[in-house]
Amino acid sequence: MKCPACNTSLAVIKLQGVSLDVCRGGCGGIWFDNFELKKFEVPRPSTAELLNIPTNPAIQVDPAKKRNCPRCENVPMMRHYYSITRQVQVDHCPSCGGYWLDAGELAAIQGEYKSGVGKTHPTRAFVSGAVAAKPGQVPVPSPATNDRTREIGNIISFINPIE
Ligand SMILES: [Zn+2]
Ligand SMILES: [Zn+2]
Repeated sequence: MKCPACNTSLAVIKLQGVSLDVCRGGCGGIWFDNFELKKFEVPRPSTAELLNIPTNPAIQVDPAKKRNCPRCENVPMMRHYYSITRQVQVDHCPSCGGYWLDAGELAAIQGEYKSGVGKTHPTRAFVSGAVAAKPGQVPVPSPATNDRTREIGNIISFINPIE
């Protein structure tokens, strides 16, 4: 599998019984298959390796660029905020449900987990925040927006099931 950000061949590492694909010696990004990311939200010493993936300083990635899913051919990933604090944006594949995290994004997600953000907020607030997320854009109610809201709502309840 190739890195969706810099095209380096991804290396497979096994942690917590999960095989992860990391861009070692490239941009330092990490690929999580469907459901895998959830297991790594909690900071643990056994997963510290993921926070220190060796990178090639000559490789610079453009976070604004659209990326295709490394697992599904020709499926563009969607970029959205991982939680209500809008600190971390992640790439998510609408087809296989996998996540691509750039270097540093996992640390930020784990930092949010530690502070308890995202666990106490209702999904609804999260969804409206996510739709209005693009700076300078006022969300206009339209069928497209509603679709997007539903879509994001599905993703959110998937990430953070309401108990
Ligand atoms: Zn890379
Ligand atoms: Zn995919």
